[in-house]
Amino acid sequence: MDKRLAKIIEDSKSVVFFGGAGVSTESNIPDFRSEKGLYQAQQEYGCSPEEILSHTFFVNKTETFFDYYKKNLIYVDAEPNKAHKALAYLEDQGKLKAIVTQNIDGLHQKAGNKNVFELHGSVLRNYCMKCGKFYDLEYIMDEKNCDSGIPHCKECGGIVKPDVVLYEEALDSDCMMAAIKAIEEADTLIIGGTSLVVYPAAGLIRYFKGNNLVLINKQSTPYDSKADLVINDYIGKVMEIKE
Ligand code: NAD
Repeated sequence: MDKRLAKIIEDSKSVVFFGGAGVSTESNIPDFRSEKGLYQAQQEYGCSPEEILSHTFFVNKTETFFDYYKKNLIYVDAEPNKAHKALAYLEDQGKLKAIVTQNIDGLHQKAGNKNVFELHGSVLRNYCMKCGKFYDLEYIMDEKNCDSGIPHCKECGGIVKPDVVLYEEALDSDCMMAAIKAIEEADTLIIGGTSLVVYPAAGLIRYFKGNNLVLINKQSTPYDSKADLVINDYIGKVMEIKE
């Protein structure tokens, strides 16, 4: 682990990690705003990921939504990387109190973290819009359960929607409140792998009142000037804990 970061963590009692898509790029899940990110998909669909991943698009063009969603947001074979593993280790040690993530890939839990607030939901959970029955990822990916790629409930025939927060949809308020509380109580906030331009998630940082704000991101962010430590590098490399 980067020595400056290790020292800050050593001197902290309550660390919270706030992360985004950049945390999972080293698990081969592309982010949205890097050169190789999902913006490439604009070529194929003729609109931005934000447009396709909006509530309006989901309602009006459900078939195209699921085509894009399954091809670009689902990575069934993805495994936790060095950053996820370091965070699981820090929770085990009692240093890390919570992870607040914008990611929907479930990799923090797969790495072993327990206290994870998923602001934008999870691709692993899906529910019938009619009767509320829950389904796993496997169910919606199985063509047998789909009509033109759109998954349907086996009980009532309703459309099964991923439990992810689409653009134009509100964030879950209980999750938001719990994330705010964790950030408010932290003495160190490590922000990693996020461009900090997606709101309201990025706005949560203003609740931090602790001593050390650390930013780990390949590119600069609008909050760099507010941080006590900025590391512009690969997060897996920065956080890696060597046995
Ligand atoms: P973003 O794509 O806007 O920004 C990612 C940032 O991470 C960029 O600034 C990039 O420079 C940086 N980055 C990429 N790889 C990195 C690495 N290895 N080490 C350090 N930094 C790295 O992502 P965002 O701010 O999280 O917002 C995008 C939205 O898209 C989120 O709301 C999220 O829900 C969603 N999203 C999620 C996933 C996922 O679940 N894995 C993937 C793509 C998009």
